[in-house]
Amino acid sequence: MSDNINARLCHMTLHELHDMLAQGQVSSREITSDVLARIDEVEASVGAYVTVDREGALSGADAADAAIARARRVGDAAEIGAVVGIPVVLKDNVCTRGMRTTCCSKMLEDFVPTYDAAVTARLRAAGAVIVGKANMDEFAMGSTTQTSIFHVTRNPWDPERVPGGSSGGCAAAVAAGEAVAAVGSDTGGSVRQPASFCGVVGLKPTYGRVSRYGVAAFASSLDTVGPVTQDVRDCAIMLNVMAGHDERDSTSAPNAVPDYTEYVERGVEGLKIGIPKEFFGPGMDEGVRTAVERAVHALEGAGAKIVDVSIPLVEHALGVYYLVATAEASSNMARLDGIRYGHRPEGRSGMDVADLMSASRGQGFGMEVKRRIMLGTFVLSAGNIDAFYGRALRSRRLLKEDVERALAQCDCLASPTAPTVAFRFDEEPDDPLAMYLQDIYTTLANLAGVPAISVPCGFADGLPVGLQIMGRMFDEGTLMQVARAVELTSGFDRARPEVGGCVK
Ligand code: GLN
Repeated sequence: MSDNINARLCHMTLHELHDMLAQGQVSSREITSDVLARIDEVEASVGAYVTVDREGALSGADAADAAIARARRVGDAAEIGAVVGIPVVLKDNVCTRGMRTTCCSKMLEDFVPTYDAAVTARLRAAGAVIVGKANMDEFAMGSTTQTSIFHVTRNPWDPERVPGGSSGGCAAAVAAGEAVAAVGSDTGGSVRQPASFCGVVGLKPTYGRVSRYGVAAFASSLDTVGPVTQDVRDCAIMLNVMAGHDERDSTSAPNAVPDYTEYVERGVEGLKIGIPKEFFGPGMDEGVRTAVERAVHALEGAGAKIVDVSIPLVEHALGVYYLVATAEASSNMARLDGIRYGHRPEGRSGMDVADLMSASRGQGFGMEVKRRIMLGTFVLSAGNIDAFYGRALRSRRLLKEDVERALAQCDCLASPTAPTVAFRFDEEPDDPLAMYLQDIYTTLANLAGVPAISVPCGFADGLPVGLQIMGRMFDEGTLMQVARAVELTSGFDRARPEVGGCVK
């Protein structure tokens, strides 16, 4: 602890800050002020935020300080919740009452929700300080955060590189010290891939583990809401707060929520970790392969048993994902028509309803969203639905069975999170299909509904590499256990980028 007192507050982990708050060594106002100061220093070069709520954050901090002081006065420090007074950022598709929630689209540029998403409400009730909203790809469709209507987000490790996406703002903010932790969404990899690119931890929980209520829908059968944090313990703490049944989301799971922090230090002695051979084929950068193989070797050194497994159908995951995700997206986007929701075109007098909707959607949606709507409408159209959508659903079932068979032979599966490290803005493929290949290792977990975490496992060319660990339904605990062992053995050791000339 004493080592940390001289380090900047904005670079400390959630659990370190919690300990200091509980012992009265620091106030939430001090932590929040340091995070806001950090935003002032580096935001011009990172661009992680689309909304910063200074006043709201500081008054949230004061309320947290009052609650902490009360608990300390009655001598009950154990009553100080794990996230009380901790500054967090939410992806801009997570509804925040009274704070605009744009999905980084012109379509919702002026949308100010009248209610909080379930995760927002849970975090507020637990005393977290909401600093603002993070940049993202428009409606969470993308892998670089570049389809946002606002601005690009730069990777804190190298401003010439993308932070990944679609939760790129969340990952960049946490990596740069602009928030202690973040909440993102993951439909096909959008929490894990940016976490991998920015050297932070990102979890896609089991489908139904965290309520989707109030999080803008992209592909409802794949959408999940997950934490982005500096380390695995922080991830467990955030999941403790975010997880749980919610009757307002019909797909929310009733399963009890364990204390995930209890798994973090259990070690991997005796755990069986499966390596799906199909994940290590061509298309992966050599640097990524080396870092991942080294991490797996280190897990073996820590007592895990490494076994070879096979997921023969995995080559179809990406194709199935882009059929299911676009089909669901086309139907979810239909409500954005400028009538009840969404951008209203100028000079609409005299337009009939069809013209109004078409002008609203034509102006409101960007290229990538339009591309997905068109693809999705095509695969759902009368003559094509069975050949495309029906077949995709049947393949999805087979893929899930493949994953279950592999997970019957081991406790979890390890693979890279993404085939490359963060790429340069000028290396971005023009071809959308090439961009979709970024999701090659991540979409399987969404299709199967299982949880998956990305944890930094090393570097390639000076840039962070993420290891993905995928587990059984509702077994996030094992993921925490293994990811923590990766943290301890990889030598990554919460390395931080030197953004804005200021590091930990
Ligand atoms: N990159 C993927 C896509 O563009 C995943 C997006 C996500 O998980 N929201 O669809």
